[in-house]
Amino acid sequence: MGATMVIDRGQQKEEQESLNLFKSTQTVIKNALDNLGYTDETFELLKEPVRLLTVRIPVKMDDGSVKIFTGYRSQHNDAVGPTKGGVRFHPQVNVEEVKALSMWMSLKCGIVNLPYGGGKGGIICDPREMSFRELEQLSRGYVRAISQIVGPTKDIPAPDVFTNSQIMAWMMDEYSRIREFDSPGFITGKPVVLGGSHGRDSATATGVTICIREAAKKRHLEINGAEVIIQGFGNAGSYLAKFMHDAGAKVVGISDAYGALYDPEGLDIDDLLDRRDSFGTVTNLFKNTITNKELLELPCDILVPAAISNQITEENAANIKADIVVEAANGPTTLEATKILTERGVLLVPDVLASAGGVTVSYFEWVQNNQGYYWTEEEVANRLYKAMVESFNKVYDMSQTHHADMRLAAYMVGIKKVAEASRFRGWI
Ligand code: GLU
Repeated sequence: MGATMVIDRGQQKEEQESLNLFKSTQTVIKNALDNLGYTDETFELLKEPVRLLTVRIPVKMDDGSVKIFTGYRSQHNDAVGPTKGGVRFHPQVNVEEVKALSMWMSLKCGIVNLPYGGGKGGIICDPREMSFRELEQLSRGYVRAISQIVGPTKDIPAPDVFTNSQIMAWMMDEYSRIREFDSPGFITGKPVVLGGSHGRDSATATGVTICIREAAKKRHLEINGAEVIIQGFGNAGSYLAKFMHDAGAKVVGISDAYGALYDPEGLDIDDLLDRRDSFGTVTNLFKNTITNKELLELPCDILVPAAISNQITEENAANIKADIVVEAANGPTTLEATKILTERGVLLVPDVLASAGGVTVSYFEWVQNNQGYYWTEEEVANRLYKAMVESFNKVYDMSQTHHADMRLAAYMVGIKKVAEASRFRGWI
């Protein structure tokens, strides 16, 4: 009984945080639309997803029991084109979070000017405690459950937290079986042999790296020798640590879900990468760890929250030492903290811009699938570079001309396209 109550309280807290995230997303969308001179009807349309599906997925577990998993697919707005966004497998997935994440996907696609609206999916589960076979059954069951509302010209899923190219391959196979023809364009983030794109695995980190370079230029900071702290060692965080290290930066801090490592002389990134497990855990191998909370406040030039939401809040924003904060995770900084950082002169590159490299290469993957003609790694890298530099500067310029903080400026750039497309379609 006692344990159950603890879990319930934990869940309540997660749900409350997700609700706050969703509400703050609505607040910034409202501010962005007001600044751009749009009507209240526009906000009424864009403040919620146009479609939201809840599914229940039965899975026969290895021990013979049947477990029912709950999943979601949210489609924020499809005026610009088919909706697009990842599927997350995580115990703390909840409907408010999935809704907010689908709204952020609309913003990301608008900022990079991709022909998509935003979508997002999630399943409440803990893949760290499931076998390969159970995960395959869950992935296939999810696709069967959502198959009516997804497809290469409707809504295109992709990887997100704790999902990977293997899961995308199972999902693509299941969808192709249902439709009875090969459908590589149904999902992105696939293995390269199944129509995946070069550079997709590292795309989010590459996009973050490009944003860091552009932000550093604005602050006349040399990447070579700059001190960097990266919170999170999952897909984005680990690739990013490598890219920063290879560029000559000194990665002085990293962390995972269990703790953090800090060394002012610089960490041995290659060694840490060798020793991390597939979920990005590495600090459990060390004795002298500190907490994630402590790590964020330590001295550095560039801080990259690349883990989970709500990490920089009004409680610690005044103690952040970095001159540049680049959000590789979704929602790591609250609105109050954004205000404090901006007032202190910190250059904040918001999530909807900094983490847009993933969906950008997903778009390239989908284009390659649709035309059946595949690009070289170099072609992908060049296009991604161009897209991210343009997006960064569009947002930066918007923030300067409208005296808006970088988050509001990014929302203004992103939501404008969705609002315009909705208007031309006659929806508002
Ligand atoms: N899940 C990633 C994101 O949040 C990628 C989405 C995609 O590739 O469609 O941006």
